[in-house]
Amino acid sequence: MDTIAAIATPHGSGGMAVIRISGEDAIRRADALFIPMRGKRPAEMDGYTCAYGYIMQNETRLDDVVLTVFRKPHSYTGEDVVEISCHGGCYLAEQVLRTVLCGDVRMAEPGEFTKRAFLHGKLSLTQAEAVADLISASGMGALKCARSLRDGAMFRRISALSEQLLTILSDLAVWADYPDEDIPEVDGEMLTGRLERLLNEMQQLAATYDNGRILREGVATAIVGKPNVGKSTLFNALTGYERSIVTDIAGTTRDVVEEQVRVGDYFLRLSDTAGVHDTDEVIEKIGVERSLTHLQEAQLVLAVFDISRPQEKEDAALLNMLPIGRTICVCNKSDLGTVWKPEGEFADIVCISAKNDDIQGLLSAVDGYIRNIGSVSEESAVIANERQYRCLRDAVNGVQEALDALHSGMAYDAVTVCLDEAENALLQLTGERITDKVVDTVFSRFCVGK
Ligand code: GDP
Repeated sequence: MDTIAAIATPHGSGGMAVIRISGEDAIRRADALFIPMRGKRPAEMDGYTCAYGYIMQNETRLDDVVLTVFRKPHSYTGEDVVEISCHGGCYLAEQVLRTVLCGDVRMAEPGEFTKRAFLHGKLSLTQAEAVADLISASGMGALKCARSLRDGAMFRRISALSEQLLTILSDLAVWADYPDEDIPEVDGEMLTGRLERLLNEMQQLAATYDNGRILREGVATAIVGKPNVGKSTLFNALTGYERSIVTDIAGTTRDVVEEQVRVGDYFLRLSDTAGVHDTDEVIEKIGVERSLTHLQEAQLVLAVFDISRPQEKEDAALLNMLPIGRTICVCNKSDLGTVWKPEGEFADIVCISAKNDDIQGLLSAVDGYIRNIGSVSEESAVIANERQYRCLRDAVNGVQEALDALHSGMAYDAVTVCLDEAENALLQLTGERITDKVVDTVFSRFCVGK
């Protein structure tokens, strides 16, 4: 493979910038450009050592830098790698890169360093994907998710599943291929039991996709309530600025407005919907229908009630519609006194005054709710993206079809075909059996320099 280089740090001014070179000519190229203040030249340096000196550009000193050498295979990419830490700033870093690029070194493509790490067996595909997630993590939840992938938890879990599947496949093959030998017949009941346990485990793993999404993308949250209870005021208190229109005239928040809000380590994807109430007005009706759809789709519902005025029939109607276990009941306008309190099977119930920004109780309730549903430790395996999810879903389908074949009394050949497909899907998930096209797609998500 040829030698590549790129700026590994973000473009812009900063304390320092790192130029990374990887490949056969990395150390030779560094040797041609770097003059050490004292001590060894790059070609003489051991792996994991660094030296202080100058990068030369056409006989002049371009910058004083720290140069680190990593010798293959003990480097990020598995190849010889040199990292040059120079002073920050776009111009200087680009000049160093330009100097490095002359000769046999070309510019790296997006994700090419990590792709090489994958091709040299330093990372599994799921770990490589986690590198992209680590870089783009926007909160502690997302970071935990990416770390668990990066540490190979997913790879180990999938490998264990794949191994179980292979054992079943080899039992079936031995029995089918050597009918004359004294090999005990495959016990259909036992086979069914093993496949059912495998299916169950795979389904549990597939379910982590939703948890992972919550941590990475935020919890889809709907604010609902009849007009004038203070939904928009709450929305604004949560988002911190005036985004949706707040007025005293009932039914003014007609459309759905969306916003991302950070609550502790997590994100809410908030939508402020039209008030839930009976109305004849066409535009409002559409809005109301939308808010009902949101109610069904939301992972968390903040149901807002005005507890300073007596309960009305719309309040009762809304209470009947709320999804059990996914609703936090928000008693608003507590500053005006309490006339009634909603009752129902809520995940939590809190009193707030949105107008006075007195929403701490709600924030704690939301934090507790997310911790409960999205609990992900750094050791747990989490399905991180659509590609992984599809592979796992294909594997689940394969095992399910094998079980169906068994139940309908089909020959073991048919069972084997379905299980082969499931095994193939798992190997695609870990990247052990994968096409170049999929590899290219995975790495195209990366930035240059990673
Ligand atoms: P929405 O129709 O549910 O979105 O309600 P709005 O957010 O537009 O609020 C309706 C009215 O109630 C506005 O005049 C708000 O200022 C007022 N309001 C909202 N929250 C509170 C609160 O906690 N206390 C008091 N006193 N008034 C509030």
